[in-house]
Formats: sequence, structure tokens, C-alpha cells
Amino acid sequence: MEVKLLSEVDLANTDLVLLDLDNTLYNYHTCHAVAMDALCKQFGDHYQMSYEQVKHLYGVCRQSVHNTNHGTAASHSRLFYVQYMVEAAANTTDTEMILKFYHLYWDTFIAEMKLFDDALPFLVSCRQQNVPVVMVTDMTAEVQFLKLRKLDIIKYLAFIVTSEEAGLEKPHPFVFELAINKVLKSNKNIVNIAVVGDDVKKDIHVSSVYSITNYHLPKHG
Ligand SMILES: [Mg+2]
Repeated sequence: MEVKLLSEVDLANTDLVLLDLDNTLYNYHTCHAVAMDALCKQFGDHYQMSYEQVKHLYGVCRQSVHNTNHGTAASHSRLFYVQYMVEAAANTTDTEMILKFYHLYWDTFIAEMKLFDDALPFLVSCRQQNVPVVMVTDMTAEVQFLKLRKLDIIKYLAFIVTSEEAGLEKPHPFVFELAINKVLKSNKNIVNIAVVGDDVKKDIHVSSVYSITNYHLPKHG
């Protein structure tokens, strides 16, 4: 179901919300753009490469990591993207430079993050109506935890499931079932589930056991 705002999710008839993070609660693209800008400038300064050369190298290394780790959280690993970039530029695995540029990317990204206007009111409504929220998100766990800390919304989440933890990415049913099972341990009365996210291909779950409504928000950026 297409919705424009999180407030359109029918919480009155929902027992559990499975909620996406990136591009659902904040704008991923603007944060990535600022982080890429910092990475291209500093990497280029260090290895005497032009901005465009670094950007191109990032794209090549990203594709290489995607090819090797297709369908897993590691396919998004900026640590591996940057490792391949440093190896290409320095012809050795310079771990200090890899860590430096890895942290530069994420520190810049996270500093730029801010919640969409409808995100906090939605999480507050879920809490007021006693609807547990499980974050279900594709990406490495530590980075997602740091993003949640920055957004200061961990207190609104019952649990978190990352694709790194699951070993598979959305929309694989196992990822969503893992999230549901975490809640079932203390709450057996789960019938109606809302899956909420921006990606019509990934934020989607089908079940013969539960009544699931898949809500899709507009794509940002
Ligand atoms: Mg998303």
C-alpha cells in the first residue's frame, strides 16, 4: 500500500510494526552525498588523485564488493569499499589509511543525519498505542546501531534485526521471521503486522500465518 506519511499506517489495527531505517526515517541520499564528498576530497589529497578519479574508483570498488558479497550485508560494507580503494591506490593493505577513510565516511554521514518530520511522531504513537516496533534493516549491524544512537530513537524500538545478523537481505522471508520471532518470545498475540519502508522490492513480506500489510513511503532523493 502506497502512503505519503508514516501517520497513515493504521496502528489501531496493528499488533507489530516491522520498520525500515534508511530512507524511511531519514534521508540516506543527502547523508551519503556529504560523506562521499569528504571521502573524495581527502582520499584524493592523500593519494594525489582528482575528485573524479576517486569517485570513479569508489564505484569500481563498490561493484567489486557487491559482486563478491551479493545478497549479504557485506555487499554494503564501506570498510571493504575503502580497503579496495586503498589497495588500488597504495598497492598494499594499509590498514591505518583504510580505518581513517572508513571512519571519515561514517562520521561525516552520521553527523549529517536527521529524522524526517513524521518519524518521531510515528514512533511516539506506536509507543502510546503499545504497538512494538522492530527495526528490520539491510546493512552491517554496528553502523546501524551508530545511526540509531545519533537519531536517538533506540528507546522506541523493541528489537533490531540487521541483514548482517540474519545472513540474508530483505526481502528474504527469514529476515522478517527473525524479527517476528524476537517479539513472539514475550508476546504471543501477534496477528496483524505492518511492514513499513521506502523500497517496494525489499520492504515486503508475505505470510500464510500472519495478516500483513506492506506500507510503502515515497522514495527520497
Ligand atoms: Mg530503506
